Amino acid sequence: MGNWPELERQYLMSTFKRLPVVLVRGEGVWVWDEDGRRYLDLVAGIAVNVLGHAHPSIITAIASQSKQLIHVSNLYYSIPQLQLAQMLVDNSCADKVFFGNSGAEANEGAIKLARKFGKLHRGGAYEIISASNSFHGRTLATIAATGQSKFQVPFAPMPDGFKIVPYNDLDALKASTTSNTCAVLLEAIQGESGIHIANVEYLRGVRDWCNQQGLLLILDEIQTGMGRTGKLWAYEKYGIEPDVFTLAKGLAGGVPIGAVLAKDHAACFAPSDHGSTFGGNPLACAAGIATIDTILREQLADHAEEMGNILLDGLRSLQTKHPIITAVRGVGLMAAVDVLGEQAQRIVDIALSKGLILNATGPSTLRMVPALIITKDEVEQALSLLDETMRSL
Ligand code: PLP
Repeated sequence: MGNWPELERQYLMSTFKRLPVVLVRGEGVWVWDEDGRRYLDLVAGIAVNVLGHAHPSIITAIASQSKQLIHVSNLYYSIPQLQLAQMLVDNSCADKVFFGNSGAEANEGAIKLARKFGKLHRGGAYEIISASNSFHGRTLATIAATGQSKFQVPFAPMPDGFKIVPYNDLDALKASTTSNTCAVLLEAIQGESGIHIANVEYLRGVRDWCNQQGLLLILDEIQTGMGRTGKLWAYEKYGIEPDVFTLAKGLAGGVPIGAVLAKDHAACFAPSDHGSTFGGNPLACAAGIATIDTILREQLADHAEEMGNILLDGLRSLQTKHPIITAVRGVGLMAAVDVLGEQAQRIVDIALSKGLILNATGPSTLRMVPALIITKDEVEQALSLLDETMRSL
């Protein structure tokens, strides 16, 4: 490796624990380091590169949009933004869209929307109930909504107005609801904390509770959206519709973007309530259009379900061979493996040396969120590299 780690120490704030690899190129589910070594990438920029690396439709969209107009202020109309919003509305339960630039910013927007809704319709209620082990971003409001104290402690005190209750516990959520509550914010499948899946009765129960109480149900689909779970949106798996949901990560296949999507009754922003310089810029939206168009045209949500089942079956059979694996969880192409002890990082390191890129979401949990275009052969190669990794422990 060149002197990149030295440059990082000298010039970058120390916020990431990086693996000792410098990635310079990608194609499909494969990436190459600066020495020309190839890796099978099961992380995909953490569920971002839904079409894999260097997908022709994204390359074409970015190249042609960049020749027309990369950025223009939201003081004017821009066609890609309107077209992407229309595609999202046509293919979801939402009626209106607001574009930002990241997941945290999308959730900030949803939090502001819920507070405005509380002012208009719930006598000034402003509290948002979210769940333990959730992850909603790194801004102050989104760490306050995140149910993991490690993200909050260094930055206390937290902004007011957030309550965290145990996940998959409807009674706890009901007990925490007061006249101050304006919304519930949940992930249908918690990604960052290691693929924890909401029970169907729970999420349906939350939907009913929000209806009864006049609360907004906000689903954070930042990791689950864009076909990853086998449906375009995870809420479809539960037979419910949120009032508001948020997107980012895979929405533009790797170009930064975020979005708040809301049904008409919840889309209560008025002019000047919210905004963003870059949000919905033509380049990001052109990439978003190409991404959604490809997912729909190539039925990649169905493909994700099929490949996810092969991956999960394979992981379960590895579990029978390697007692270090204590649990396998997943939906579509969101998979996690729990391992004994605190060995997840060691497994990630060994896998990397064998040409497989994994992610440790905790000391004992591995996460896999590959590109939706992964093939059966590539899933099998990944499983065999993981098998080899486990054998060498
Ligand atoms: N919400 C969820 C469910 C996420 O998984 C993430 C990122 O991992 C975020 C929000 C934050 O997104 P970003 O890092 O783009 O701000």
